[in-house]
Amino acid sequence: MFPAEDTIAAIATAAGPGGIGIVRLSGPRAWEVGRRLFRWRRGPLPDPPPSGRLLYGQVVDPASGEAVDEVLCAFFRAPHTYSTQDTVEFQGHAGPAVTRRVLELCLEAGCRLAAPGEFTLRAFLGGRISLEQAEAVAQLVAAQSRAEARLALGALAGGLGRRLAPVRAALVRAAAAVEAAVDFPEEVAEIAGAELARMLEQEVIAPLEDILQARERMRVYREGGVVVLCGRPNVGKSSLFNALLQEDRAIVTSRPGTTRDAIEEAVLIGGVVCRLVDTAGLADTSDEVEALGVQLARQRLSRADVALVVLDRSQPLSAGDRQVLAATAGMPRVVAANKAELPPAWEAAREVPGAVEVSARTGMGLEALREALGRALTGGSPEPAPGEVVAGARQAGALARCRRATARAARGLAVPAAEVQPELVSLELAEALAALGEVDGQGAPEEVIAAVFDRFCVGK
Ligand code: GDP
Repeated sequence: MFPAEDTIAAIATAAGPGGIGIVRLSGPRAWEVGRRLFRWRRGPLPDPPPSGRLLYGQVVDPASGEAVDEVLCAFFRAPHTYSTQDTVEFQGHAGPAVTRRVLELCLEAGCRLAAPGEFTLRAFLGGRISLEQAEAVAQLVAAQSRAEARLALGALAGGLGRRLAPVRAALVRAAAAVEAAVDFPEEVAEIAGAELARMLEQEVIAPLEDILQARERMRVYREGGVVVLCGRPNVGKSSLFNALLQEDRAIVTSRPGTTRDAIEEAVLIGGVVCRLVDTAGLADTSDEVEALGVQLARQRLSRADVALVVLDRSQPLSAGDRQVLAATAGMPRVVAANKAELPPAWEAAREVPGAVEVSARTGMGLEALREALGRALTGGSPEPAPGEVVAGARQAGALARCRRATARAARGLAVPAAEVQPELVSLELAEALAALGEVDGQGAPEEVIAAVFDRFCVGK
């Protein structure tokens, strides 16, 4: 399913005009194709060309001899390359047409266009990096905050893999002991069930529990959070949304209920990348279109990490305001008492303790609001330290399955020796190992690997 014998090519830099445009080739024929397209300024290229050096020259169309771009070209000899295969990189001028023409020449010379993440996939298949490290590459490329980049770098160093190696070893030990009881029931009269169960508890279940709990605490740093603005119409949600964004995105008018749809932007708050979602008022309404928006607001709210409830402090608190407060009472939330530069119609500290007084108009209190949002998003957990490991959603799902199967196995072992059913326990342990394999990549099924590399961009 993953052929590594053909030679792949792709543009490795972002599309559009820029500083440099890189076309990368990887595979058994990379050097041959590279030699055919590259004209070294110093004269005929030695065979083989020097590895790991930048050579100055031109990419030429071999059919016409016409120069296509002026480039620095590098030949990298397998296996010490990004993909573990022979690799060639043409670093040219980043004009989109020029870079695309260089790629076309590579394809005409027999390369195949690389699939998303295929260079990194080859690094994984070539044994240079683990599945965790491959995922970390995608994570690092996508990182938008210092915390995200840090976590990706920790994963790139194989942090999770190091913590999972003893977990795998313990599972294998238990599986071998149980397997022996299945294969040679007469020789292994009784397996030391209680002892094995204890070992699984200490060496598999407890460390997995640790990893999963750390993920819960740190999840927003790794995956970002969702903040949903809610409040009745005209309290200043869109204005506050814009103020937090520091640019005009949502359309603000003074007619109530103009934000009919949800509007979303990404902002960095307290070191967390969060999606700020502005919705129509959450308060009940008779207008049909507006009602649709209200329904949407409730839906959005159910998926929010934090609700940002906006109230108008210059108007008496209404039934609608109280409805919004009631709807968000059970979840992490921050209450903003907006329009605080106007004469107050209610006492924030008494009516809604903890409410942050802000003015979207003057910018007053915005810093305090950001801080309150940061605290609500992270639950007070500090930014992850360098090298800290936090499992991603896919990894955590598989590790939770591993933990559940192990717990079932441990329960099956912690019974009187005569009642242990080694066949059943053996199945549970196999399931636990398979789930672990989806994270450490040992024996991971092709569809899991394909799903991991699906998230990459072409050229990586
Ligand atoms: P939304 O319906 O909750 O999204 O409210 P908007 O953001 O559209 O604001 C409604 C009205 O309140 C607009 O006329 C805004 O200019 C005004 N407004 C918003 N924030 C403030 C504020 O802090 N102070 C004052 N005086 N007016 C505000």
